[in-house]
Amino acid sequence: SFHKSKGQHILKNPLLVDTIVQKSGIKSTDIILEIGPGTGNLTKKLLEAGKSVIAVELDPRMVLELTRRFQGTPFSNQLKVIQGDVLKVDLPYFDICVANIPYQISSPLTFKLLAHRPVFRCAVIMFQREFAMRLVAQPGDNLYCRLSVNTQLLSRISHLLKVGKNNFRPPPKVDSSVVRIEPRKPLPPVNFKEWDGLIRLCFNRKNKTLGSVFRQKSVLSLLEKNYKTLQALKGSSEDMAGEMDVSALGDTSEDMSMEIDDGKDDEMEVEEDDEAGGDGSDFKAKIIGILKQGDFEEKRSSKLTQVDFLYLLSLFNKAGIHFS
Ligand code: SAM
Repeated sequence: SFHKSKGQHILKNPLLVDTIVQKSGIKSTDIILEIGPGTGNLTKKLLEAGKSVIAVELDPRMVLELTRRFQGTPFSNQLKVIQGDVLKVDLPYFDICVANIPYQISSPLTFKLLAHRPVFRCAVIMFQREFAMRLVAQPGDNLYCRLSVNTQLLSRISHLLKVGKNNFRPPPKVDSSVVRIEPRKPLPPVNFKEWDGLIRLCFNRKNKTLGSVFRQKSVLSLLEKNYKTLQALKGSSEDMAGEMDVSALGDTSEDMSMEIDDGKDDEMEVEEDDEAGGDGSDFKAKIIGILKQGDFEEKRSSKLTQVDFLYLLSLFNKAGIHFS
């Protein structure tokens, strides 16, 4: 019997398994990481294609079944099984990752892989269709979101294959897609905490103009607080470029539960009235000035590219405005 809570949906279509292995471009010298091997249908083809397979499996019964399946075969010394939660174990070196994963770990696993060092060549992973579509979404697409921007900052992602429910036993409730993820080498030189801070603000209201996002009182007061703290520390705080912690981008939990985007755009936000010139208004003028400088005031995050966001962040940082 299979464990629903462990996302156990076994690939039962051998042609599909062959296609996944073919499309992943495995070399005979490759050390392959597999996550959630289950009963080993994919594992077997990976062992045939590469030099060795390291398989991380949570369920001890599956580990036993897998080990038995290859016992006494020439494959047994090419296979190393690690029993444990892939999100908790230290991953060893690998060249390529090929996996049909439990969908509930999609986001943390993707960022764990992208933070892994040394950088691997590529990962070919089965995801829930909707998650896959978010990964590959481009500016202007409905599913374009923080997950798209953050994963695409760190990697090139392409959609390889649509996979229907009936290729699995038991069939899951959702359709699936196989995606290829190739880490960027080198990574763009950006402070990931800063990047994540900006992207969170912008995608909180992705269909609003940046002018309206940055006029929110809560946003202005957060940025002003950061600004004043940094001014007070001035001198020691200029060197922020060293922050290259990829894992800063990993928490995208809200992306999968995002509200359905009805495309409506309400710009009816109540503006704070600071005609009286309280000390917030200078700061607000500074922020809006930066948006105007890059022609961002009327732009919406849902339509902005990664390059746009990198430029926007650099304008803010140059003016001493920080997001972390
Ligand atoms: N790869 C097999 C196949 O395609 O037939 C099975 C895929 S099944 C969708 C997911 C597998 O991942 C199950 O064997 C399950 O026990 C395992 N699993 C679930 N959570 C895991 C975790 N956190 N770490 C490692 N393996 C996990």
